[in-house]
Amino acid sequence: MTPSSTRTAPDDEDDDARGPRLSPRPFLVNVAVLRRHAGSRQHEERAGPIEGLAVSGSRVPPGAEVVVDVVLEAVHGGVMVSGAVTAPWEAECRRCLGPAQGGLEARVRELFEPDADLEETYRLGGEQLDLEPLARDAVLLELPLAALCSEGCLGLCPTCGANLNGGGCACPPASADPRWAALDLLRGQGE
Ligand SMILES: [Zn+2]
Ligand SMILES: [Zn+2]
Repeated sequence: MTPSSTRTAPDDEDDDARGPRLSPRPFLVNVAVLRRHAGSRQHEERAGPIEGLAVSGSRVPPGAEVVVDVVLEAVHGGVMVSGAVTAPWEAECRRCLGPAQGGLEARVRELFEPDADLEETYRLGGEQLDLEPLARDAVLLELPLAALCSEGCLGLCPTCGANLNGGGCACPPASADPRWAALDLLRGQGE
């Protein structure tokens, strides 16, 4: 689970001369041309920070970029958006309480409509389509609720609380093994 290399949005795309980094609203896409022809498609890769992406167990680091890589397709009544949303996350390991981190990727396929009820579809505001609510929802669903720093994390010693990933502690392992517990009991009876 190595953190993915830092991704930057392409700044050489002809169809978006503003450049995602320079725009105050990097997730806002103009769909005026797209919507003139049903069935036409438009690829968009947008990146930028989104505030408040956190669940009880983990969060996207403040200021980190969320990347939305999607294809927009003009359909009857709206725009279908499908592709992927990716973001880095950080958390407290549920076993050792140390830092944990990783990257998430959420697949998305959502309909944007002018008269969205906002429960099943997203709102299409005239010629502007805002990918941010979609990105926010996708990331919140995908953030881990009980992260691990690594699959093999050894956690904390139940007796002294030492982080066992750091080489163990002086506590006798006997209490964890039922065979030794039985032996201890026999010894206790003999005394
Ligand atoms: Zn851990
Ligand atoms: Zn211990």
